Order: sequence, then structure tokens, then C-alpha cells
Amino acid sequence: RAPQPPKAPEKAGVPGIGAIIAVASGKGGVGKSTTSVNLALGLQANGLKVGIMDADIYGPSMPRLLHISGRPQNVSGRIIRPMEGYGLKVMSMGFLVDEETPMIWRGPMVISALTQMLREVEWGELDVLVVDMPPGTGDAQLTMAQNVPLAGAVIVSTPQDLALIDARKGLAMFRKVDVPILGIVENMSYFVCPDCGGRHDIFGHGGARKEAERIGVPFLGEVPLDMQIRSTSDGGTPIVMSEPDSVHSKTYREIARTAW
Ligand code: ADP
Repeated sequence: RAPQPPKAPEKAGVPGIGAIIAVASGKGGVGKSTTSVNLALGLQANGLKVGIMDADIYGPSMPRLLHISGRPQNVSGRIIRPMEGYGLKVMSMGFLVDEETPMIWRGPMVISALTQMLREVEWGELDVLVVDMPPGTGDAQLTMAQNVPLAGAVIVSTPQDLALIDARKGLAMFRKVDVPILGIVENMSYFVCPDCGGRHDIFGHGGARKEAERIGVPFLGEVPLDMQIRSTSDGGTPIVMSEPDSVHSKTYREIARTAW
């Protein structure tokens, strides 16, 4: 008899959470966290109850992006209460360690931290939990993809070939563990010069849409490289919350609607 492939581990659901959606990228710095947070706020603006789990253990960014400080309170036993920001329930390793403290953890510790963040946090009733994944396709990512009952994954990429090659690895990883791809977002898609009004495709343009078409997954939308997105993001007042009427906020809400 031919050897059988190992069975996938049991993907136990999390009581109270309707769907868990991963936001992933092949590499860092492409705007995955900015997309996660604005996607979460977009889902909320579309009427859903939303939480966000920062699975980027080595580089947590939710405390800064959502301007949250302080430590989560213990509820009972090992269960802790998530923090809240702009209506979102939020959990991040950044609430448990100082910003300056490097996380020098090996794979198994990361995996147990992620499991705790998911299962030992009092998330309550949520329609959607958005998981901001760590960049790349290593141990933590694979474990998340394998052990967490993900309803789907949103892939964030910039338009240039190199980023797309990495994004493709991410896509392949989710497919390998049978997680549906909800679609691809092209971030830093183009730049409109505020002085001359001219449009510049700094990292090229349209690569993510082409990739989505090529592999047959939805293209969720393009977000330009924009000062206001950067300043609101880094200032802890994400654009979908602070400038709901801006064209970018509409784009994010549309991305949210198409993704979920
Ligand atoms: P990642 O999670 O992929 O590492 P971040 O979301 O932290 O990326 O974004 C990296 C940097 O790029 C941050 O300073 C963020 O504010 C900025 N950024 C992300 N998306 C955009 C955008 N569309 N326009 C301008 N700046 C952006």
C-alpha cells in the first residue's frame, strides 16, 4: 500500500467567531498591516462586528496603527480580554511586551503564542476576525494556515515582479492547506503627484490584477501610494476611520465588500 500523506490537524473553530480571514504578503513592507487595519475598519463600516489579531509576533504593529496602549486584563484563569480601538477588538503581542524588546523566540514558541492569542482571548461575538499575518511563508505562517480554521486569505502585494514572486509563494502556501484565496490587493499601485497632478507608476502597475486573472482569483482593488494613507496609518488614525469620505476610504470599503 502506498504511504498516505499525514492528516491535516483538526481545525477547531473558535466559538463566537463567524469567520477568520488572514491578510498575508510574501514579504514585509508592502503595506500588509495598513491593509489589514483598513480592511477591518471597512468591514465594520459595512455593518459587521470585527476583531483584529496581530499575528506578526516579531513586528507587531497594531498598537501603533490603532493608537492603543496599556495591557489586556485577565478575565479568568488564562483568558484575557482584548483591547479595543475604533470599535475593533484587538489583540497583539505588542500589548504584552515593550516596543523596544526584541522577540527572540523559536518557531514552537511563536506557534503557542499564536494559539493563545486565538483561543485564550475573550473575543466575544464577532462576524469576522481579521488576522494580520507575519510576512513570508515560514513556520508561523504555515502553522496558522494549517491550524486556524481560516475562511480565506487576502493577499497584499505591490505591483513589481519581485513582490509578486513572493506573493505567489503565499498563494501557493494557502492553496496547499486548502484555504480559499479571497483575492489580491495591489498596494502602492500608483502615485498621483500632489503638485502636478501627474500619475506615476513608481513600482509599475497592474501586476497584481494580471496575477489574479492568471490564477483565477478575485482582484480586490488597487490602493495608491499616498501621503495621507501613510500619515494616518503611522499616526494611529487609519484613513477609513479618520477620513471616511476620502476616495481611499471608499476603495477600502469596496475591497472589504468584495473580499467578504
Ligand atoms: P507591512 O505590514 O507589509 O510590513 P505596513 O502596513 O507596516 O507594511 O506599511 C509599511 C509602511 O508603508 C508604513 O509606513 C505605512 O504607513 C506605509 N504604507 C503602506 N501602504 C501605503 C500606501 N498605500 N501609501 C503610502 N504609504 C503606505
